[in-house]
Amino acid sequence: MINKKLLNPKSIVVVGGSDDVYKPGGKILKNLIAGNFKGDLYVSNPKADEVQGIKSYKNLADLPQTDLAVLAIPARFCVDAVNLLVDKKGTEAFIILSAGFSEENKEGAKIEAAIVDKINSVNGSLIGPNCVGLLNENYNGIFTTPIPRLDSKGVDFISGSGATAVFIIESGVSKGLSFSSVWSVGNSAQMGVEEVLEHLDNTYVHGVSSPVKILYVENIDKPEMLLKHASSLIRKGCKIAAVKSGGSEAGSRAASSHTGALASSDVAVEALFRKAGIVRCNGREELTTVASIFMHAELKGKNIAIVTHAGGPAVMLTDALSNGGLEIPHIEGEKADALLEKLFPGSSVGNPIDFLATGTAEQLGHIIDACENDFDNIDGMAVIFGSPGLFPVYDVYDLLDEKMKTSKKPIYPVLPSIVNVKDEIEKFVAKGRINFPDEVVFGNALCKVFHTPKPQPETIEMPEIDVPRIRKVIDNADNGYISPEQITELLDAAGISHSNDRVVNTEDEAVVFCNEFGYPVVMKVVGPVHKSDVGGVVLNVKDEATVRKEFQRLMKIKDTYAVQMFEMYFGQEIFIGAKREDKFGHMVLCGLGGIFIEVLKDVQSSLAPISKDEAHGMIQRLRSYGIIKGVRGQEGVNQDILAEQITRIAALVKAAPEIFEMDLNPLLGNSKEVVAVDARIRIEKD
Ligand code: ADP
Ligand code: MG
Repeated sequence: MINKKLLNPKSIVVVGGSDDVYKPGGKILKNLIAGNFKGDLYVSNPKADEVQGIKSYKNLADLPQTDLAVLAIPARFCVDAVNLLVDKKGTEAFIILSAGFSEENKEGAKIEAAIVDKINSVNGSLIGPNCVGLLNENYNGIFTTPIPRLDSKGVDFISGSGATAVFIIESGVSKGLSFSSVWSVGNSAQMGVEEVLEHLDNTYVHGVSSPVKILYVENIDKPEMLLKHASSLIRKGCKIAAVKSGGSEAGSRAASSHTGALASSDVAVEALFRKAGIVRCNGREELTTVASIFMHAELKGKNIAIVTHAGGPAVMLTDALSNGGLEIPHIEGEKADALLEKLFPGSSVGNPIDFLATGTAEQLGHIIDACENDFDNIDGMAVIFGSPGLFPVYDVYDLLDEKMKTSKKPIYPVLPSIVNVKDEIEKFVAKGRINFPDEVVFGNALCKVFHTPKPQPETIEMPEIDVPRIRKVIDNADNGYISPEQITELLDAAGISHSNDRVVNTEDEAVVFCNEFGYPVVMKVVGPVHKSDVGGVVLNVKDEATVRKEFQRLMKIKDTYAVQMFEMYFGQEIFIGAKREDKFGHMVLCGLGGIFIEVLKDVQSSLAPISKDEAHGMIQRLRSYGIIKGVRGQEGVNQDILAEQITRIAALVKAAPEIFEMDLNPLLGNSKEVVAVDARIRIEKD
């Protein structure tokens, strides 16, 4: 838990505080002193009475009552120190910088667990061990530099890796990003990224709290908790960007189904972030760029004006934005002509608005005013202004700062001359502004932000399904693939339409089916998992003689113990699958069948439960969506029914978590119906 003594301690002791500022215990003390910590600061160092001018207690037992302890001593000494501090000194908050705990070996894990138990016994807080610490407006509790500019409206940053936290801060600081807090959770012995996010959610007050959170995570241990608090924060008006590294693992583990092969754990992360409304970033630069975009006014539409004094970067930005689905609309008309009058001859306002290398601050002011007030088809501006190094550009950046104070539309400064006008950029940033040095990095990030969907609603409406009937099948099923009869029962109970079919054991029974439902029919083997591969599927059977002949042939195929008769359906092949992913619950995937899934891997995914809106989103994000809608006079697939089927699959796996994976492959869809003609369900109970 996160308590007041951690957030705002009245006293701090650095156990292992040192004069050597190249050691964590020395550097953190230096940072605490430099940050003008307002409360009482102590050191405990057995070799000194004073360290960096701060009183040191040679014996920890002599220390006065202290709220927060920073431990920078070897792991093996930490247990005794924690016990003493908790029992005798009223210490209820700990930051343990030291390594050598659960990340190293079993012995370390034992020490770590003992420390957590002790701290939990007084409802205390623990950050770490094996971390760089905690930094907030009250104290500089980290042993690294740089210390970023602190601002209550800056970024709250939580990192699962200490070293990476430093690099991310550096990436942010160089752009001008300010921070509200930095949490390096290390081994997450008591609190990980999820717990810190929970705290930020529970204490969030819109308009008061920092509106931007960024995360760097390597493992998601509590996906449900992450989803709950990230989506809650975003619904309250906060914005979140995150890097989840380690996604390239070959996800296809001995998979026997399509879903198994397509649904790697990274797909689950992707789905989780999308559901939460988190902007997923691929690296430090992108993360801090997205955070910087969040620090600007919200972009309300997709139309951007590119204002520039140089052609090249404007062209590159135009490419990045339009490839990413934003627009650079043409600007014309009387007001555009009036603006052109105010610029040097040779300028253009069509968008990009190019006011030439000789363009002045005054002209930039006219351009920004026109974009803000006159051009209704503009939602935001990117201003590119560097320098060939001939003259200073303070006046331009001052004007940019002034305009940004009053403009309702976001203005994104792209100031590429990080060498030629370094001083000017520093002055601009010192005013609290942010610079996007590279237009393409910025453009790609802006597109990503704009296209990230809103978080899921707090409660997801699920379709009605017959849960007792589902439970009965599942409870009676063994591990492994279940029988066609059990599948039919589950699909019926979940309201998922499937073909009329019947398992038969004799030629005569097969003929009875045909007489009942009419020709043509489809015949398949029962037993083998991949039926087509063994020649076990016969389509378009039109007469009794063929039924009898095929029955005999099919029964001879290896592992076959019966034949399944189907009505023949017509339509577009569609695929829906579900797979249980450790801790994440089930992900549900959909796409078109056939080559679209085999070759193009065109699938979309989400985590169960899934709302109807979300299901529509999945369908619409498919590259092959045009085929579902119907192209060039071809009949499409009923999207509403398909979306409904997706929500039903999600509801089914929610009711039956024992389903390890399931494939409806294919369903055949047209404008009137979407019918599953092949289904596989695998059960795995603990
Ligand atoms: P498997 O996936 O085990 O190879 P399927 O049952 O999916 O076997 O059948 C293979 C293909 O046959 C399907 O992808 C589909 O194109 C077609 N098919 C199967 N059942 C029917 C049916 N009832 N009506 C029309 N086509 C079908
Ligand atoms: Mg199939």
